This record gives sequence, C-alpha cells and structure tokens, in this order.
Amino acid sequence: MALKEPASMDECVYFTNRNLGEKGKIRAWVYRQNCPKCNKALMGKPRDKGKIKIRATEYVCPNCKYTAQKEEYEDTLTFESKYVCPHCEFTGEVQIPFKRKKVKVFDEETQKQVTAESVRFQCSKCGKSIDVTKKMK
Ligand SMILES: [Zn+2]
Ligand SMILES: [Zn+2]
Repeated sequence: MALKEPASMDECVYFTNRNLGEKGKIRAWVYRQNCPKCNKALMGKPRDKGKIKIRATEYVCPNCKYTAQKEEYEDTLTFESKYVCPHCEFTGEVQIPFKRKKVKVFDEETQKQVTAESVRFQCSKCGKSIDVTKKMK
C-alpha cells in the first residue's frame, strides 16, 4: 500500500501534520469526494461571495446544490495517514473511515486526562492506539 499525499490543501477537507509525543509523527488527510448524487463536482463547504465558509456545518455540491450535514458526510470519507508510532517508532500507513470519537487522552500541557474528539487507530506493528485529536481552541 502506498498512499498518495495530497498536492494541495484544496484537495482535502482535512489535513494535519504534527508530532505525537516525543517520538511519533503523523501526516494525515481526507480527500474531497465527488457529490454522491450527481457525481459531477467535488463536495465542499459552501461559499459566500467567493469565500469558503470554513465553519459551515454542511457540505454542498456546487453543481446540483445537494447538501449534506458535516458529521454525517465526513463519516463516509476516508482518513489516510502516514505515521511514526509514538509507542514503537514503527513507520506505517493507515486508511480508515473518517469518524471522530470521544476519547480520553492525556494532555501534556495541563498534565491531565481530558476528553477530546479523536480519530483513533491502532499501530499495525505494536497494536497500541494512536489518537489524532481535534485541536480544541
Ligand atoms: Zn451534485
Ligand atoms: Zn507501534
């Protein structure tokens, strides 16, 4: 399996490149997909006078105007990632459904367990969980 990394952010609904703890690293992305109704255009966030509404809670098809709710729609997409496991330093790749779950993670800044939304997968070598949490601000 060799994942193709996106050439530009415009191809993605999600992209991240970050460190996982002291030893791990991850690059992850979710490609935009064609409209499930007309299959003629890429689904995207709605635009207002040419500007993308980043915080919109839905995706729309610019061709047929089909609209899908953000969470429901994102569940159908594929999360792809190249990672260096923070537990065993194995370099691997994964493809999983883009589903966020509430998980408990250890926040290094506050030194506390916190609940965060995360895409969780298991390292294909050591089997331990790797979390790609949504940044809370
Ligand atoms: Zn469409
Ligand atoms: Zn591992």
